[in-house]
Amino acid sequence: MSFSLPGDLDMLRTTVRRYVMEELRPLERTVEETDHLDADVFRRLREKAASIGLYAHNIPEDAGGGGISMLGQVVVGEELGRTCMPLADAAGFLPVAITRAAGAQREWFLDPVVRGEKTLAYALTEPDAGSDLSGLRMRASRSAGGWVVNGSKQFISGADIADFIIVLAVTDASAELRSRFTLFIVRRDDPGFDYLFNFRKMGWRGYQLGAFTLDNCELPEDRVLGEVGKGFAAIMDTINTTRIEYAGRYVGMADELLGLAIGYANERRTFGEPLASHQGIQFTLADCDCELEAARLLAYRAAALADAGDPGMRLAGTRAKLYASEMVGRVADRVLQVFGGAGYMCDFPVERMYRDARAFRIGEGTSEMLRIQVARQILKQR
Ligand SMILES: Cc1cc2nc3c(=O)[nH]c(=O)nc-3n(C[C@H](O)[C@H](O)[C@H](O)COP(=O)(O)OP(=O)(O)OC[C@H]3O[C@@H](n4cnc5c(N)ncnc54)[C@H](O)[C@@H]3O)c2cc1C
Repeated sequence: MSFSLPGDLDMLRTTVRRYVMEELRPLERTVEETDHLDADVFRRLREKAASIGLYAHNIPEDAGGGGISMLGQVVVGEELGRTCMPLADAAGFLPVAITRAAGAQREWFLDPVVRGEKTLAYALTEPDAGSDLSGLRMRASRSAGGWVVNGSKQFISGADIADFIIVLAVTDASAELRSRFTLFIVRRDDPGFDYLFNFRKMGWRGYQLGAFTLDNCELPEDRVLGEVGKGFAAIMDTINTTRIEYAGRYVGMADELLGLAIGYANERRTFGEPLASHQGIQFTLADCDCELEAARLLAYRAAALADAGDPGMRLAGTRAKLYASEMVGRVADRVLQVFGGAGYMCDFPVERMYRDARAFRIGEGTSEMLRIQVARQILKQR
């Protein structure tokens, strides 16, 4: 078993880190303070990401993406975790469900999305259903020209500006869960689409989470993404791979936090000594380091299994996301404490990461849902 990354992934890491440090880092403070990422700036960042082969890095080459391995995606995730969520989005990590686009959809939908010319939101959650997809109410019924969709979605990242919103709707309420849903491509100018509002929230400033309704929204047949009744499989494919790259992001954020803590602990003096020379602070840093490394290995292992086509990647990815999302919360809390009062102030990015990390235990599967999934698997196995 090898614990070192292939050399080409070191090069990939260098490329992404340079993009993050040179293009994204200088914008962090403005985005945070204004809670806004200018549309032209966002477009320029996507273009830059596309020019270095980063945009759509997780999408297979035959669908026009970078086609990098899952292990490569974790490395990209680690570097993107060093910046804030809206800016990280410019690197073009896209839901793999889009690769179900077929025929003419490739031209008007997939190609411009993969090139970064058009943007996407991905809408599953509804007022009455988040963790429990069996509670989804958005309903699509066949009509003469295609489909009529009714229902509402909430907490949808980037839906305020997205050119396309992929929505999951019930197409056969009597079917078992696996064949109950279909994915549709909605445009914000579709008649019946009504964007309601942006939520006020704790972190992820500059990234809006919105609510919208579809009221007798008529969609032609070519807005079905993938096959009718196959929406569940498409979202599971997306979730299973997203969890692994996101575990990498949480590791990256924790690594950034630990670096800040070490820098501060070496500079700040109390009782005539640098903070770093006090054993209590050393223990805190050591705990952060061990947990960070454990999360990194879980993410790398899940990625290696995914790259080998091993179905064990699902359980491994669930473990990695669960552990890494909780780990980064603990690390952010401890690092804030190392900074003392300065950690609570907005002069350092620690308080921003503390707030941003809190959402990681909720999005892409809450910690409770992940524990349920891990428990189900291990109870079956042993
Ligand atoms: C920052 C952020 C970005 C998001 N972006 C998107 C997006 O782009 N698209 C999208 O579709 N959604 C998005 N979401 C929504 C997110 O996916 C949901 O919030 C999440 O799935 C949980 O659903 P819920 O909020 O309805 O909680 P609920 O399902 O109502 O659950 C409430 C709490 O109860 C727990 N719980 C539920 N059932 C059980 C059980 N059986 N046993 C134990 N505990 C249980 C849950 O874990 C949770 O802690 C985003 C959320 C956040 C915070």
